Amino acid sequence: MISEDVSPMTLSQMFNREQIEKFNTLNTPFYYYDISLLSNTLTACTTEANKYGFHVHYALKANFDQKVLETIRSFGIGADCVSGGEVRRAVEVGFENKKIVFAGVGKSDAEINFALDHEILCFNVESIQELEVINKLAGLKGKKASVALRINPNVNAYTHKYITTGLEENKFGINQWEFEKVLVALKSLQNVNCIGLHFHIGSQITDLNVFKSLCIKVNEIVNWFQERHLTIKVINVGGGLGVDYYNPDTNKVADFETYFKIFDLFLERTAQQEVHFELGRALVAQSGTLISRVLYVKHGQVTNFAILDAGMTELMRPALYQAYHKIENISSQDQNSARYDVVGPICESTDCFGKAVELPETKRGDLIAIRTAGAYGEVMASNYNLRDRVNVVYSK
Ligand SMILES: *Cc1c(COP(=O)(O)O)cnc(C)c1O
Repeated sequence: MISEDVSPMTLSQMFNREQIEKFNTLNTPFYYYDISLLSNTLTACTTEANKYGFHVHYALKANFDQKVLETIRSFGIGADCVSGGEVRRAVEVGFENKKIVFAGVGKSDAEINFALDHEILCFNVESIQELEVINKLAGLKGKKASVALRINPNVNAYTHKYITTGLEENKFGINQWEFEKVLVALKSLQNVNCIGLHFHIGSQITDLNVFKSLCIKVNEIVNWFQERHLTIKVINVGGGLGVDYYNPDTNKVADFETYFKIFDLFLERTAQQEVHFELGRALVAQSGTLISRVLYVKHGQVTNFAILDAGMTELMRPALYQAYHKIENISSQDQNSARYDVVGPICESTDCFGKAVELPETKRGDLIAIRTAGAYGEVMASNYNLRDRVNVVYSK
């Protein structure tokens, strides 16, 4: 939500003076990735997941920067892809093919063929028609494709409606009333091997009770299929774990401990069954910051505007789904503060990062940090208005 900055005004706790001086010498805007925070996050995630033997795949769509991906791969995490391009990127970065899964509601024949050629672990299939197409394309190559059925469990994620995916009104997955037909189809399709079920109900889920509800629903659906003699080797519960956009310094790392514990407690499974997760945002969001410079300050009748050299072309989340990002002026030491609408230069009224944001007195040339921008930030950048490609800077 675009809303007033709720936290008290502080200078950045993320950046020290030396870093800020270095930023001052660089061309803005740029994404800054803190690779050591990313590593700490990955350590926390893998440590907690390993306690229960859970498998984690990283959802590339959140951030497919080369160095970020290499760091994630180095932790033994797999890749969750939603396009042929992402499958290609995962292969290029060196993710093992048997740790790559391919989801998405509209896979083209070319994308399916590419993934078949690379013998990935699994296609997460979203409809009976897709099952038929994969069966046909695999047959033409003399291959058998491993698939998991993406089920729409009709569980409310209680997140923004634009990032809710697990309700019957959403376009994703196979609905309950189609289950019988799927079983019939699977019997006749010789070139697909169904290894499991897949669920992904939405993103930026902060009420962890939602995952308990998901487990209960998953147990029911897994049982339904097993009673009908479909062996479920893999239970893939998707991603969606949220991060704290309001307090990025106090909650640098998501609560993986509680998250995985919920699945351990509530998800029924046998020793033979694997549990897979597809985390995107929670692995990368806090490690990324968009650094921008103030171009102009306009003092209006009701509001002041701080006009940045970054806009929705670099970070689209506020314009796309009214997302909140913490905004800091990291160069002003001014004791006086004022409220600013922090906006970009793009010719769209939704090109606004925050309204009535309290900042120290802000002037042309100041550096502005837009926090928690590591997920769904750089990947959504566009060249609308014929803008330059956004730069990237790493912590080391
Ligand atoms: C986007 C997506 C994810 C990752 O979601 P996050 O909220 O970033 O964890 C996982 N699985 C699928 C199928 C997705 O589309």
